[in-house]
Amino acid sequence: MKDYDNRTVRIYVDFDDCLCETGRFFPGLVKKLFGKDIPYEDMKYFELDKSFSLNSEEFEHMMTIAHEPEALLSFAETPGASETLNSWLDKGYEVSVITGRPFSAYEASREWLDRHNLKDVKLHCLNKYGYDGFIKDCGFSLELEDYYKMHFDYAVEDSPNAFRFFDHLPELKVMVYDRPWNRECEFPNGNYTRCIGWDRIRELVG
Ligand SMILES: [Mg+2]
Repeated sequence: MKDYDNRTVRIYVDFDDCLCETGRFFPGLVKKLFGKDIPYEDMKYFELDKSFSLNSEEFEHMMTIAHEPEALLSFAETPGASETLNSWLDKGYEVSVITGRPFSAYEASREWLDRHNLKDVKLHCLNKYGYDGFIKDCGFSLELEDYYKMHFDYAVEDSPNAFRFFDHLPELKVMVYDRPWNRECEFPNGNYTRCIGWDRIRELVG
């Protein structure tokens, strides 16, 4: 299906905490590594070092473990994610998963998508958060310059730190996946809608 000017509908989908429950993985890891009890609902900041009060060494250690294939492949799918993305693909929409994970996590991330019936979505690693320190020489697969040449009609994102990547698309409808770390943030404009889950996202996109 095409939109009014006969152009394919293009959708940006973030990976962590949109397609899968990444945030819910961390309280257990923090407890195991540092003995701290901080529940998911208390993760008030997208910056995990801030949410869990970690120094830079602790943060790097935790992030290294969290980016190992074993961890990445263990994240649960958010209910309805794969079903929704496949319903869009069936309509001929183009779906690109744009993750802030480094390229070193690409293979395991691709495998996660394949295992969750998402073989037909594209996957790109974009340096959204400046996370290039904790894994040496990891790199990213999508350069900023090339990202800015892409066009999207809708975006699904949970991180207020990524909203700046939408500033160049004034028509873009952004669906913010409701998470504890984005509940207090101010949306940049009226095109942003808080969504409790994939049912709501699917309603908005059609
Ligand atoms: Mg995310």
